[in-house]
Amino acid sequence: MEDVTSSVSGLAFVDQDLDLGDLGGVVQWNAPSDTRRVEAYRVYLTDGASTRSLIGTEIPLGLNETFLPAETDNVWSLVEVYTRSKLVEQTTPIGLAISDTSASVSGIDFVDDDLDLTNLGGSLTWLKPTNAAQVESYVAYLAEACQDSVVAEVTGSLSLSVAATETQVLAAVQASLATMLGVSQSEIIIASITAVSARRLSTTWDVTYKISVPVAQASQLVALTAAINVDATSFVATLREELLHQGVDSAAVTSLQLLSFSTASVRIVVNDLANSTDDSDSGDSNTSDTRRLASSPTSVPLWICHAEVLGNATVNETSMDILVDTPLRNFTHILIYTSSTLAEQTTPEAHLILDAFASVSGVSFQDLDLDLGELGGTVLWLEPQTSQRLLAYDVYLAASETGQFWCPAKLGRFGSKPPMAGYGKTESPTVVLVTGGTGLVGKAINKVVNEDDAAKGETWVFLSSKDGDLVDRSATEAIFKKHQPTHVIHLAARVGGLFHNMAKKVEFFRENMLINDNIMECCRIYGVKKLVSCLSTCIFPDKTTYPIDETMLHNGPPHDSNLGYSIAKRLVDSMNHCYKEQYGCQFTSLIPTNVYGPHDNFNVQDGHVIPGLIHKCYLAKQKGEDMVLWGSGTPMRQFIFSEDLARLIVWVLRDYQEIEPIILSVGEEDEVSISDVAQMICEAMDFKGKLVKDTTKADGQFKKTASNKKLRSYKPDFKFTPIRQGIQTAVDWFVENYSAARK
Ligand code: NAP
Ligand code: GDP
Repeated sequence: MEDVTSSVSGLAFVDQDLDLGDLGGVVQWNAPSDTRRVEAYRVYLTDGASTRSLIGTEIPLGLNETFLPAETDNVWSLVEVYTRSKLVEQTTPIGLAISDTSASVSGIDFVDDDLDLTNLGGSLTWLKPTNAAQVESYVAYLAEACQDSVVAEVTGSLSLSVAATETQVLAAVQASLATMLGVSQSEIIIASITAVSARRLSTTWDVTYKISVPVAQASQLVALTAAINVDATSFVATLREELLHQGVDSAAVTSLQLLSFSTASVRIVVNDLANSTDDSDSGDSNTSDTRRLASSPTSVPLWICHAEVLGNATVNETSMDILVDTPLRNFTHILIYTSSTLAEQTTPEAHLILDAFASVSGVSFQDLDLDLGELGGTVLWLEPQTSQRLLAYDVYLAASETGQFWCPAKLGRFGSKPPMAGYGKTESPTVVLVTGGTGLVGKAINKVVNEDDAAKGETWVFLSSKDGDLVDRSATEAIFKKHQPTHVIHLAARVGGLFHNMAKKVEFFRENMLINDNIMECCRIYGVKKLVSCLSTCIFPDKTTYPIDETMLHNGPPHDSNLGYSIAKRLVDSMNHCYKEQYGCQFTSLIPTNVYGPHDNFNVQDGHVIPGLIHKCYLAKQKGEDMVLWGSGTPMRQFIFSEDLARLIVWVLRDYQEIEPIILSVGEEDEVSISDVAQMICEAMDFKGKLVKDTTKADGQFKKTASNKKLRSYKPDFKFTPIRQGIQTAVDWFVENYSAARK
């Protein structure tokens, strides 16, 4: 006789539901060594005695795991795996004690550094859970607590026998419950009262009642009813008094019997009002349903009607920036949920938001400068009532235009000890931020500024994409926070020649639009005095009259070849006007023609024509091959040497006061054909081979002749570098820096 034993081994379960009292995750085991008689496995949660609950369905032999869904109530002590044969299920399964993972962050801290009422900004920090082994990430939300619109419905019942009328019993029960439970009589609703049996001397009455109270009060009421259930003496005494009061005769009152008194139960009811706060955002994936939080700092259960994602962080991060000017709206709390690979917590940690608000009051100024049109004297103000978050005051002169609009000019910054007065003559040092500072134009500005005495007392910061991706709003904010620029020259852009533009229209639009929006909005928020952005003559209408001038920018669709780039750039001009009109910002733009020079992008595929041809010519010379010019060579262009452009950009920053753009270009008489340019490059490179044309390639716009009349009206004497000289400089630079050049 053979006694078959088939038990699983290596039973494993790691709880991945991060809430206390909830389980979830995968249960795994190894198959028995002898499986000849095993048909299937059954996996149970058990209390270690007779109660158990099957997880999912039976698992066929061959599969060695089952899944326990997140948020399974943990009222169990073991997970057990039984094997089953054709005849019977095992009676002695293999069991594993359940360990309930709970991982919540603690110590959430957020100090609002945005001093405007109803706006938030600053750093949100928290502490890692003590046991973070199952935590993958954190999700932070701004949340609206809806305490008032969520109520607890406490219901209970009792049964008594007394010789009294329904009205008398109802009133006496109502009054007695009110006294015993400490609520007002009007809050007690008698849901039903039924005479179940009527004898000569008494009637048995079944009564059910309902009380709606704030959630926080519910457990206390339940505890009081539980106490009456155990010892009803006082309740019966009160009931007798109330029956007498209702006119029931004393003999009947004496023979009163309380037959039963149940412990009340609680149901949480969310009023429609709570759900309706979800209004415009309903259906938004950022919006969470009403949830109960176990872990509010006050330990009063907290209910959330509406929440919106603030951001995510990986498990090892313990801070997150809340962007300046984040609207507070109706949000009351910050929530931080932990998340495992299985699920996000349902009961996160909550932190009450305190909105910092600090404005000075009593601003006064008496002009002691006796000239008309000039001011001088002391500006006075009173410090804000709450000044803990204050580092300094910025004092501006503002021109009121239509009352509501203003155009600020900063007078100065005054130190952390709030002074009672400050003189408006200390201009803060100028910090000029140059985005795209490592590109063709940025490098040229860097060179010009290094040679410019006027820039000696100023701080110039040249950014590259390594300092932060300007497509990303928070990275852009971090840059402004760090450098606190007073002036910005905005060059950073996704830039490329004709062929690159034709291939990537969507990227050219989206990246440039996002970069420009981030820069303009940060300039507004951080009080930048002047922003100069860079447009391009290739964004003008395709069908137009020549020469092009600044007034024609929006007069028709741009050339199809660079539609994405052009539209993104044109929006900068539109928004410069919007920012001026609404906020008084001094945002302007300049429009260079084709630029060339050292540090250009010499990539043959992606680069502009001059760097592209320089690179091709270099390779043709090296390899003894023909140099290939793309297209017919007949299109006409105006080229500006990068250092000339840099000098003009610095002039625009310091002296050009208009919001309207200004074309920065050589004269119309300096327009050259692509063939001529190619010829000049061959000469500068001393290339003796053949110059051939590949006419299968596109020509792009035939010409975009621009007028520099406006520039000449400001700078009649500006000397441009002759194109042959500029090309020679660019060629020499490329040859000398071949290995490091962008290509
Ligand atoms: P570039 O040589 O290609 O340089 C682009 C610059 O922008 C680089 O410093 C680059 O940083 C930065 N940049 C690009 N994407 C960025 C991002 N997402 N985040 C942060 N920085 C980013 O360009 P350029 O020729 O000097 O052009 C400068 C400006 O002039 C542009 O606005 C362009 O539209 C305009 N423009 C140029 C021409 C021309 O012929 N080149 C003509 C008319 C107008 P990395 O170096 O780190 O990549
Ligand atoms: P655009 O001025 O905005 O059109 O851009 P580009 O600087 O790329 O100039 C394009 C003109 O140069 C077109 O007429 C092209 O056909 C011509 N071209 C000739 N050879 C090349 C080359 O090697 N690269 C580029 N980008 N354009 C070339």
